[in-house]
Amino acid sequence: MAISVKSIKGTQDVLPSESHKNRFIEQTVMSVAENFGFKEIRTPVFEHTELFQRSVGDTTDVVEKEMYTFLDKGGRSLTLRPEGTAGAARAFLEHGLFNDAMPQKVCYLTSCYRYEKPQAGRLREFHQFGAECFGTQSPAADAEVISFANEIFAALEITDLKLYVNSIGCPECRKNYHKALKDYFKQYEDQLCETCQKRLERNPMRILDCKSPQDSKIAEGAPVVLDFLCEECSDHFEKVKEYLTLLNIDFTVDPKIVRGLDYYTKTVFEFVSTSIGAQGTVCGGGRYDGLLEELGSQHIPALGFAIGLERLMLLMQAQNIELPAENGCDVYIAAMDEEALKEAMQIALDVRGQCLSAQTDIVGRSLKAQMKYADKIGAKYSIVLGTNEIESGKAELKNMQTGEKMLISIDDFAEDFQQIILQDEMKHLEEMIGE
Ligand code: ATP
Ligand code: MG
Repeated sequence: MAISVKSIKGTQDVLPSESHKNRFIEQTVMSVAENFGFKEIRTPVFEHTELFQRSVGDTTDVVEKEMYTFLDKGGRSLTLRPEGTAGAARAFLEHGLFNDAMPQKVCYLTSCYRYEKPQAGRLREFHQFGAECFGTQSPAADAEVISFANEIFAALEITDLKLYVNSIGCPECRKNYHKALKDYFKQYEDQLCETCQKRLERNPMRILDCKSPQDSKIAEGAPVVLDFLCEECSDHFEKVKEYLTLLNIDFTVDPKIVRGLDYYTKTVFEFVSTSIGAQGTVCGGGRYDGLLEELGSQHIPALGFAIGLERLMLLMQAQNIELPAENGCDVYIAAMDEEALKEAMQIALDVRGQCLSAQTDIVGRSLKAQMKYADKIGAKYSIVLGTNEIESGKAELKNMQTGEKMLISIDDFAEDFQQIILQDEMKHLEEMIGE
């Protein structure tokens, strides 16, 4: 069917046949979050543009090219969130959460918006699971946050990810590093892309994160930040690595990682997959000790990470990781006439009250068509109600898989049926344990 309005380029619909997979991933991620003591925070989809300019940074790809920014009817400049940290940090400050016991650990499942060239794993509306830990400068927190991301991947049985870590130091060590980078890139100034030529003076580290092949090539020979770390940053990084080793987390130090957002300091990290092509970075994170001050607070060190959920899904598909099947219909209650339908509707409601799923005929189909539908939706059981059943108070419950039938009372249907489902589950569990 031709429709006149289609979805926006770079956005995706999640259809009913697929959404249980998203839900499974979201529930798994949130349960790991609970084990690590991270609590959910929900913030608005749009914020004042200035929030992102100040926090993500004026010279980043995100702020320079990718934000969905618009004036509202009151003439305010607003932006759809391109990432979750800025909003979480703003809410943390605005609601005085720093008055509570530190650290404050928050997490979110959220949509993000970036005007990018859509391709596999790169969308204009995408989703992130993010976590932020406010109020600790200990390297143990860096290791815990990395371990948190690592446990999420383990819980989802993802195996091919590699963890890369780096330290990009503090503003003090970066002064010297910036100078060395400027000196290096100056030699290639006229070969750099236009954006990076501008970045050369303002923020030369951004050139290291440029996606242009020519600039990446030049960046290969650039000085590395690890050679410029001050003693404190260097000690911090050593401790992080020590704790990661203690926790049995494999990692590779990659001095080239700088991350795409300006707010990072000290530890930065990425989890990268080789199974999903160019957009292989599934998770990025790090420490951002200067961000909250930038937003007007006292010094509050913090750190976090974000996982791109669409990339995570692509990765799970590429690795053929099976997700649990959707919980389908427990019982289909077919009705032969109007009287029977009234009974069926009431029984269906009772069954639903027992936290089981029941469906009946809300279309007005023939009995044959109803049974065909029950089959199609994968109903585990079915019963047929007609005059005889209603008069006798009994109906045949049919197991749709085995064809087995048993007589069951209509009056106590919901309770009896719940027992049957419980017994099925017990049997299933025993089989699993026996295997
Ligand atoms: P990239 O280098 O791939 O552009 P990034 O550094 O811009 O990534 P972050 O800002 O760190 O990404 O966002 C964290 C995660 O969100 C990424 O690792 C990725 O999994 C996901 N992500 C970022 N941008 C997109 C996008 N446009 N579409 C889908 N997922 C994305
Ligand atoms: Mg990007």
